[in-house]
Amino acid sequence: MGIVVQKYGGSSVADATGIKRVAQRIVNTRKAGHDVVVVVSAMGDTTDDLRDLAEQVTPLPPPRELDMLLTAGERISMALVAMAISQLGYKARSFTGSQAGVITDSAHGKAKIIDITPGRIEAALADGAIAIVAGFQGVSQDTKDVTTLGRGASDTTAVALAASLGADVCEIYSDVDGVFTADPRIVPAARKLAQVSTEEMLEMAASGAKILHLRCVEYARRYNMPIHVRSSFSEKEGTWVIPDRRAGEVEMEQAIIAGVAHDRSEAKITVVGVPDKVGEAARIFEALSATEVNLDMVVQNVSAAATGLTDISFTLPRSDGQTAMGALARIQDEVGYDKLLYDDQIGKVSLIGAGMRSHPGITAKFFASLAAAGVNIEMISTSEIRISVIVDEAQVDDAVRATHTAFDLDSTEVEAVVYGGTGR
Ligand code: ASP
Ligand code: MG
Repeated sequence: MGIVVQKYGGSSVADATGIKRVAQRIVNTRKAGHDVVVVVSAMGDTTDDLRDLAEQVTPLPPPRELDMLLTAGERISMALVAMAISQLGYKARSFTGSQAGVITDSAHGKAKIIDITPGRIEAALADGAIAIVAGFQGVSQDTKDVTTLGRGASDTTAVALAASLGADVCEIYSDVDGVFTADPRIVPAARKLAQVSTEEMLEMAASGAKILHLRCVEYARRYNMPIHVRSSFSEKEGTWVIPDRRAGEVEMEQAIIAGVAHDRSEAKITVVGVPDKVGEAARIFEALSATEVNLDMVVQNVSAAATGLTDISFTLPRSDGQTAMGALARIQDEVGYDKLLYDDQIGKVSLIGAGMRSHPGITAKFFASLAAAGVNIEMISTSEIRISVIVDEAQVDDAVRATHTAFDLDSTEVEAVVYGGTGR
């Protein structure tokens, strides 16, 4: 039988009991005849705790040293999981990202994987051992320094390894039973999806659904790697994130809507009173792009004929808010805009579903459900299979619930169980 890659998140390996439970599951998979490669996250909130510790020492930790510190979290869990497996009488060997051949660029804190050379993992498997790999880390090709791939990126390590090893499946274990139609903490009647396409999952991850790291879904899509999202606390079948069906294959009946996602991590900046001339928007967005801030929605209002001035609004991660405001302030004289407004009391609510392509009226129904719930829409953006709105942060929960109900997604039984984790 083939190779199975399993990734266990921080809440699954939060303490010794969790580590032993996970080891038993891994051994069961081995007993079923698979070669098993495991990717682990740091125990519980270790990564946050290490960050806090660094900040107590210095407000601006050097990025190289911060990566050195944070990667220690995964080293702890990988060694403990390997020990627990050997206690069960099976051979296990742990590897850091660097030892596992995860080669990255040198952007500390957000390194990108450029290659995987999993020779030592393959050798361990050939030797009959289970390989345990530290997630979210690699080694820079240029500097040979240890890097991290960004918060939550153990998922990405797992899918990238699965692809490079030619695994049959990448199983991602967390503390919920799968991918739900909405966050069960907001919508207790959310349903578990049996299947979702990588295309829909990409939109959901990009819209704030925290169940899978965005880059891991991009990887899965690029390499056609099926992902099985499931809980390490139960034996239930989870959600299969499956590569999009190719043309010519038998069309399955697909739900019109996959789910409702929300995101409270963005802020909105409005540049007020921009002269409505050719090149002004370019100047503004060039200044922003020089700061490497990732923008999300962009809206330019119709200019008032009397003044010849217009307003441009956009959203971005709150953590980049001050950088962007600084960059815009520096070009005020050059552009000649009036003032800047900053609002971080916003939230984004997104409706996602591949069936939108072939079903008209989804937008109207979405907006009507928001109106009925008394939710005001501040901005709108769409893709082929997604509609997103920006609303007041205080109304996000209402908006998610109203939309979930309007699209008949509510389940009659409570399906969602959150088994562990602090939600941090
Ligand atoms: N431990 C890292 C984090 O908390 C990576 C991960 O959990 O995927 O971000
Ligand atoms: Mg995580």
